[in-house]
Amino acid sequence: MLARMRSPLALALVASFSLFGCGDDAGEDPFDVTPTDAQIAYCPGDATDALTRAERALRQLTLEQKAALMAGTAPLPMGGSWKTMSISALGIPAYRMIDGPRGASLVAGHATPFPVAAARGATFDPELERRVGAAIARETRGLGANVLLAPTVNVLRHPRWGRAQETYGADPLHIALFGAAFVEGVQAEGIVSTVKHYALNSIENGRLSIDVLADARTMREIYLPPFERIVKEAKVATVMTAYNSVNGSFASENAELLSILYDDWGFAGFTMSDWMYGTHDTVKAVHAGLDLEMPNPKIYGPALAAAVQAGEVDEALLDRSVRRLLFTAFCYDVGSIEGDRSLVETDEARALALEVAQRSLVLLQNEGGALPLSDEEGFSIAVLGRLADAENIGDTGSSHVNPSPGTVVTPYQGLVARAGSNPVELLEASDPELAEKLASFDAVVLVVGYTAEDEGEGEGSFGAGDRASLSLRDEDLALIEAVAPLHERVILVIEGGSAVVLTDVVEHVEAIVMAWYPGVEGGTAIADLLFGDVNFSGRLPTSFPADEAHLPPFENDVASTTYGYFHDYRHLDAEGLDPLFPFGYGLSYVEVSYSAIRLSKDTARAGDVIDVEVDVTNEGDRSVLETVQVYVRPPGEVVSRPVRDLRAFGQVELGAGETKTVTLSIRVDELGYWDEAAGAFVLEPGVHLVEAGRHARDLPQYTELLLEL
Ligand code: BGC
Repeated sequence: MLARMRSPLALALVASFSLFGCGDDAGEDPFDVTPTDAQIAYCPGDATDALTRAERALRQLTLEQKAALMAGTAPLPMGGSWKTMSISALGIPAYRMIDGPRGASLVAGHATPFPVAAARGATFDPELERRVGAAIARETRGLGANVLLAPTVNVLRHPRWGRAQETYGADPLHIALFGAAFVEGVQAEGIVSTVKHYALNSIENGRLSIDVLADARTMREIYLPPFERIVKEAKVATVMTAYNSVNGSFASENAELLSILYDDWGFAGFTMSDWMYGTHDTVKAVHAGLDLEMPNPKIYGPALAAAVQAGEVDEALLDRSVRRLLFTAFCYDVGSIEGDRSLVETDEARALALEVAQRSLVLLQNEGGALPLSDEEGFSIAVLGRLADAENIGDTGSSHVNPSPGTVVTPYQGLVARAGSNPVELLEASDPELAEKLASFDAVVLVVGYTAEDEGEGEGSFGAGDRASLSLRDEDLALIEAVAPLHERVILVIEGGSAVVLTDVVEHVEAIVMAWYPGVEGGTAIADLLFGDVNFSGRLPTSFPADEAHLPPFENDVASTTYGYFHDYRHLDAEGLDPLFPFGYGLSYVEVSYSAIRLSKDTARAGDVIDVEVDVTNEGDRSVLETVQVYVRPPGEVVSRPVRDLRAFGQVELGAGETKTVTLSIRVDELGYWDEAAGAFVLEPGVHLVEAGRHARDLPQYTELLLEL
């Protein structure tokens, strides 16, 4: 093997490997390997043992076997999962992979559909997300898979992205904290988690070919931080590259992106391509460090072995990848995982799906006490809308989850169950006697929005792709226009994966609730919140603009597009534009006030962690779960900076009339900007304003923090 290596890279690989005591002719125990600190931190099992087993197996593999291990085995999932090759004689297990971000995927059988990630982001509660990750991992195990293809942590640059529902929102820190919690939850259950899609993947229609251009600051400060945190802190096992190209090179063969991952962040796991259309060039991909082509061999497998034989690729590069693939397999003991149907669609998973849905709905408007609905005897509710009695749990792409028939609770069913003996009636908008009928009801609930026909994974030929506009469908607008003048208590419930422009709607209806795709118990949660059994606590993880024209352009039908530095609230702030509903916004059935912000110290230096304390008072007569948000306004004198960035958030349960002090921490090292010349994050000296409050446009408490370098 050594004799065949020629390139400087191959020599460097040999040199670094023999530092571990693994040189072929070391004359000692050839498997006495020493894992790096990064490998020890990464490996839930015994890193030395895993590395030793990997090395032992690697040495017995032929070139063809190595090349075959670097690709999946078949284009379609067989027996409920996509598989890699196993070689039992060498103790090499197969990876068995299933999606995905809202539950264990349909390819494996029935499973629990949780509210989509966009909904879960609206809970602003990463600890709840950790429990969701663990619950999905248990179902993954129950279905016999050992790799979960989730979470999706692409920053939502524009709400028309078809897969907006799969990610947590628009803010890098918020997404990073959610993604990290999910990964930790999954991996604590012994399942391999895959963070995806690395990187700058937030357009569907052109996803297979589009070249996304971004400068270094935009990448490092906005689009890469979720991946960085999930690699460095959550120790994610694997990373899936994106379909698209980034700055001129496809993500699966992008040397810069993969070097950031392995060299800058110390990633100790393996990378895999996105499915079928994500790989292009054998030599480029293996040189950049792509370890596994999924789901079947195109550029790897026989093509890779041939490239080695033709002298285009050093076999040492295959060793590097196979070593990484085997190390993870042994760290996670993936071969030991067996299916167990009793772990799937459990009461516990369903109860968690309900809890998350209750926490994720966002109350956008509530005029004249339209909500809560009453349960006084005889209180009657008319229900209308395309989605009123629909099982609407998200798109039908790879993240689709297929629950057992009849288990999804629709909004109408949820309201009927909650209302008990009180009348709840489903009416048709086309009913010629609609006006007379509506007059006899105490409240009207309209359920409208998007479905898998409007938005989802896909690029035209397959799946809905990107949403055509941020407005509601014409038929939904027509329904609102027809019904709103007929009643004084109209409650609009909207389902969908991301922001909707509601400027023409807000004046016509009394209450508006954003319900996302709320999962298997969505209808129950909608009823619990509308009746006020549970107080609203969800907050928007993305701004709802007043007009789509207020956002950066969404170019999904071009060969290449530039992602600028500002998007979502940073863009609206920079342009001086007011959103209709700001990032972080959400009402409840009480008012909450803020007072007395203070910092653990007023002057800070690199490495410090600053505690921000603020007193929060529930002014109402019932309890509430309040999300406190802390933003920092950097000086912005050295380089152009956002007006403010979200830097911390947390929740507090407040009883009626209660005041509590909330303490949130800011890491000073996270306040910097990416300095391209230095190739590092750099802090800006001077006064940083620390602001606390309910959302990005309601920050009544602020104080100064002086950064000294
Ligand atoms: C998607 C991935 C998914 C994979 C396997 C691809 O089309 O982009 O997110 O994990 O399919 O289903």
